[in-house]
Amino acid sequence: MTLFSDLKLDPKVLKAIDEAGYTAPTPIQAEAIPHALEGRDVLGIAQTGTGKTASFTLPMITRLGRGRARARMPRSLVLAPTRELAAQVAENFDTYAKYTRLSKALLIGGVAFGEQDKLIDRGVDVLIATPGRLLDHFERGKLLLTGVEVMVVDEADRMLDMGFIPDIERIFNLTPFTRQTFFYSATMAPEIERITNTFLSNPARVEIARQATASETIAQELVSLQATRRDAAAKAKREALRKIIETEGDALENAIIFCNRKVDVDVLSKSLIKHKMDAAPIHGDLDQSVRTRTLEKFRNGELRLLIASDVAARGLDVPSVSHVFNFDLPSHPEDYVHRIGRTGRAGRSGKAISLMVPSDQKYLDGIEALLQKTLPRADAPDTGLASASAPGGAPEDAPKPKRARRSRKPANDNAEAQATSDATPTAEPTPEVAKADAPAPQAERPARGRGRDGNRRDTDRRDKGSRNDAPVGMGDHVPDFLLREFRTA
Ligand code: AMP
Repeated sequence: MTLFSDLKLDPKVLKAIDEAGYTAPTPIQAEAIPHALEGRDVLGIAQTGTGKTASFTLPMITRLGRGRARARMPRSLVLAPTRELAAQVAENFDTYAKYTRLSKALLIGGVAFGEQDKLIDRGVDVLIATPGRLLDHFERGKLLLTGVEVMVVDEADRMLDMGFIPDIERIFNLTPFTRQTFFYSATMAPEIERITNTFLSNPARVEIARQATASETIAQELVSLQATRRDAAAKAKREALRKIIETEGDALENAIIFCNRKVDVDVLSKSLIKHKMDAAPIHGDLDQSVRTRTLEKFRNGELRLLIASDVAARGLDVPSVSHVFNFDLPSHPEDYVHRIGRTGRAGRSGKAISLMVPSDQKYLDGIEALLQKTLPRADAPDTGLASASAPGGAPEDAPKPKRARRSRKPANDNAEAQATSDATPTAEPTPEVAKADAPAPQAERPARGRGRDGNRRDTDRRDKGSRNDAPVGMGDHVPDFLLREFRTA
């Protein structure tokens, strides 16, 4: 077995990881660090939880130990898709570099430019950033990337999902071609392959077996509900979820509950709170300080139920979660593995319970094909579900989303892009989500000017003129020109 002491890391780094309590390098660390220390580019195909952050941070610190930072010219650059991930890398860096004199700056949205400028002006060894924010600084002329010796792209597959690839290409082109590059992705989509072929030079390819099979320590269950209409389905799922949480009792220490759409994260979390459960939402539309506080509380055990979207939760290191729920089955099967991988970590047992309705069948097929097994079915809890499939108006247990307009974006869209000036999102809802979001057939449509949940829509605001009725059959969106009055001479 490889030991950290075999890895030719800076003794100051070894001291810090010893203090962090790491006994041996993880497989990706054992494989990547020697290549990295030789100065080679590394292409890491691995996901969160494998110890990948330390696999690039430790050699980076060792390399940067020699030399000094110059004003406005960072010596290394770490790009992460979301603020949380960037902040997490920064935290890791602080832990591992505590015995060195290396300086760092974190460039993420939600933090005033002024403070970040000051740090950069002074000169930093390590700059950790989200792509949009980094380019904002660059365009303001506050930053030169010509001194970058090491560049890291973390979670490139997520960058791709979020539409950051053009930004990444641009940033690559702003750095010297002599730089050393560490590039990490959980999957190698053709677009990612193209980027690595263009910008990496003879990389050492380090692949850590994909978690295509979920950990053995996770007990998985699938609960099938009969509701077919969307509003009824959501209500049935909320009822079933509450019942399951009650039934699990004390065994459920804490849980992450995943929804596919941000709006559902909010609705579900309000509904759980209304039912006196200890819950809070996390998604990209929430203020950064709220997100950070919520996560901190969840990590400290002060919050029991974290309702999350994929991007907000992805890569977050929450050490011990007893349960994961898929309130919605994810449309990308890989996300199922990522999600349930939040429980059953480090040999602990965990439980992953997924809810589905008939329209989710295609997602289930994808998940079972990826896992190459059938998910164990569990009985639906007795919630009087007969009513669930009955058509009806607004779900009475759901909070009335007075101001919350129904978002057309999936929850797993660009969390970062929601931040002011932080990014330019290009991610579109996946076809599946777009389809799920599509207007209901006319027979199912509620009163004009109201959504399928019976709540008033934004279109109402336009109804001031003589045309009071929004045209039927256009879905929730009515093009402006259809509402305009015109007269013939
Ligand atoms: P990552 O995949 O980088 O997000 O790391 C997942 C978790 O593993 C983090 O909490 C790290 O602190 C932890 N970790 C990283 N390397 C090691 C190691 N060699 N031994 C034990 N824990 C580690």
